[in-house]
Amino acid sequence: MALADLAGALTMAGIVLPSLGVDWRAARLSGVALIELGAARPDVVTRLATVIRRGARSEALTSCPDRSCAVQVELSTDLHTGTQEWRCPACRSYGWVLPPEYAAAHPEEAVLQWIGGPRRTN
Ligand SMILES: [Zn+2]
Repeated sequence: MALADLAGALTMAGIVLPSLGVDWRAARLSGVALIELGAARPDVVTRLATVIRRGARSEALTSCPDRSCAVQVELSTDLHTGTQEWRCPACRSYGWVLPPEYAAAHPEEAVLQWIGGPRRTN
């Protein structure tokens, strides 16, 4: 259920929305169940925005670099070199992943470096 899913995710992030629940009034009037997020303190909303931003960025960082594809890539580590590699399960593109320290120092570079497979479009 959506409410339990959101409540669980918020708990994982250490966030409490005090009025989170089912909007029974809207359900009675329209017959459609809605989830009421309710009011929260500004610091809680700021924390929520930070968590959402991190999640969205993390998802973008691990999406196939081929923008016409954009599915989540599979990550693996080469046991011999320690290099992290990625492979797209949809279009079969593949490449290597910038080391975290380097990626942090060079935000202008794509974290997923393309090596082979279909030509990237970006
Ligand atoms: Zn792909």
